[in-house]
Amino acid sequence: MTDLRSLSLEDLTAQLSSRGYPAFRAKQIRQWLDRGVTEFDQMTNLPKDLRVTLAELFTVPGVKILRKLTSTIDGTVKYLFQLDDGETVESVLMQYKHGWSQCLSTQVGCKMGCTFCATGMGGFVRNLSAAEIYAQIEAAQQDTGVRVSSVVLMGMGEPLDNYEQVVRFLRMLGEEGGVHIGMRHISLSTCGVVPGIYRLMEEQIPLTLSISLHAPNDAIRSLSMPVNKRWPMEELLKACRDYIEATGRRISFEYAMIDGLNDSDACAEELAERLRGMLCHVNLIPVNTVEGKKQQRSSKERIRSFVAVLERKGINVTVRRTLGSDINASCGQLRRQQDSH
Ligand code: SAH
Ligand code: SF4
Repeated sequence: MTDLRSLSLEDLTAQLSSRGYPAFRAKQIRQWLDRGVTEFDQMTNLPKDLRVTLAELFTVPGVKILRKLTSTIDGTVKYLFQLDDGETVESVLMQYKHGWSQCLSTQVGCKMGCTFCATGMGGFVRNLSAAEIYAQIEAAQQDTGVRVSSVVLMGMGEPLDNYEQVVRFLRMLGEEGGVHIGMRHISLSTCGVVPGIYRLMEEQIPLTLSISLHAPNDAIRSLSMPVNKRWPMEELLKACRDYIEATGRRISFEYAMIDGLNDSDACAEELAERLRGMLCHVNLIPVNTVEGKKQQRSSKERIRSFVAVLERKGINVTVRRTLGSDINASCGQLRRQQDSH
């Protein structure tokens, strides 16, 4: 059966018209979906025979809230969503000055195996469909009553390893009746799947690309990110330069500060050298501790010193604010707890 939400309005209109239904029916169906109604019987302005036909042809994949944690410090909400087949993914809703931002998952698990990451530990289960990625926004909006105004694809999974569904999801955001989040309010984070970066460049989608770099050289990067052996830093940074040239858009480099691994002043010097002249921004993230892993976050002094070196070398740098620290808001951890219960 076809997943109804993944069809564009034109596709749905075409499918309905081939069965003799007028175009406005497709719009009505879309409106119900956008209001969070997923049972065809509750779509009361549709004729009965159409409701029966829809049930025969389509499914509407949704997400159910399995667990929800709310931070008492800053109001960050973390969800564990259950998909129709029982699999689970996490998503986090955060409040910033400019509005609410939601971090979405794109896969159940991940193939990439980064050693510091809770998601990577459990291996890969499956890709999410575009509709399942989208449904995370609807579920959070319905639950909290807030409007999500920006989205980051930084939850569980590697978005460029689920390329088609992720791009389909991005297109769904702008469609008539959709949640209408402009591409300038979308960030996509990748561990460095180089061919995916080139494909994305061709799409001409003006989103913000984030690269999880986490190291200044191959020796250190390969220790924690197996993907670096497939696409080493030289290739990755070339793809980034090409991306900037083709799109005119600034790239954001994520750098998790791990005590004793990648946080020395020498690392900062080397990083600055490699990024010299690039239209970019470095975002330092004090690494989150993960159960069963030895990593510790760098001290505040170490981070300050690292920042100072980068700034002296003219690199644009910020330190990410920690949100939801009382609810372990970084993705991958809630699902693991659930699994071990
Ligand atoms: N797979 C994509 C997007 C999901 S991970 C990627 O790797 O970019 C989202 C971000 O969280 C990435 O920058 C990732 O490197 C980072 N991350 C993973 N585990 C972390 C941890 N324990 N502490 C801090 N950041 C972490
Ligand atoms: Fe996958 Fe990203 Fe985690 Fe690496 S950091 S294992 S790419 S989710």
